[in-house]
Amino acid sequence: MVREQYLEVEERVKQACLRAGRKREDVTLVAVSKTKPLPMLLDAYEAGARDFGENKVQEILEKSPGMPGNARFHMIGHLQRNKVRQVIGKTVLIHSVDSLRLARQIEEESARAGLVTPVLLEINVAREESKFGFFVEEVEKALEEIALFSHMRVKGFMTIPPFVENPEQNRKVFQDLFQLSVDIASKNIDNMSMDVLSMGMSGDYEVAIEEGATIVRVGTSIFGHR
Ligand SMILES: *Cc1c(COP(=O)(O)O)cnc(C)c1O
Repeated sequence: MVREQYLEVEERVKQACLRAGRKREDVTLVAVSKTKPLPMLLDAYEAGARDFGENKVQEILEKSPGMPGNARFHMIGHLQRNKVRQVIGKTVLIHSVDSLRLARQIEEESARAGLVTPVLLEINVAREESKFGFFVEEVEKALEEIALFSHMRVKGFMTIPPFVENPEQNRKVFQDLFQLSVDIASKNIDNMSMDVLSMGMSGDYEVAIEEGATIVRVGTSIFGHR
């Protein structure tokens, strides 16, 4: 079942890229495997998945040793500062840097480990009270401090859009995040690039690809309900 669903999502990603005039290899499909057991991740791997998204440090530590060496783990959930040390070096990308205090902790622990940690800043585009992340107008100021860090590198932005019935309702959110990345890129701030936009989930990943997502995070459509 996971195999068929993964291949179906893969096909939809491909079609969305075609519609948008984008190359398939410019969009990374992250299979969000949180709460799902290792055999399901292995099924997805067999179907072609290489990138897996988890929202708990513990699950990354438990599952990654059981996966083939070229599987990559992405930390996509809210990260507590006291868990940072455990996750440094265990993920290809932390998508969910949602405060300066967390950023400082990642810098400190990465320095201790002698690593440079790639991250995305999580942006609360729709200003939802229930969500973590920087407001759009806070981003430039935060990046001024982060520009001084030498063990954490910002690669772009991530957002978790509002839950909506019709994915078209989130098109504006995706456009706004794309525009923010263009605006920030034009400022040539040190220690960051704006190559990555992580946006789009099961309900709206095709729209996100049309609006410039370079990573989509798809859980339910691949692994079923949690
Ligand atoms: C769970 C989760 C997803 C996947 O959501 P689905 O709707 O199941 O595709 C994507 N991003 C984040 C940050 C998540 O926590």
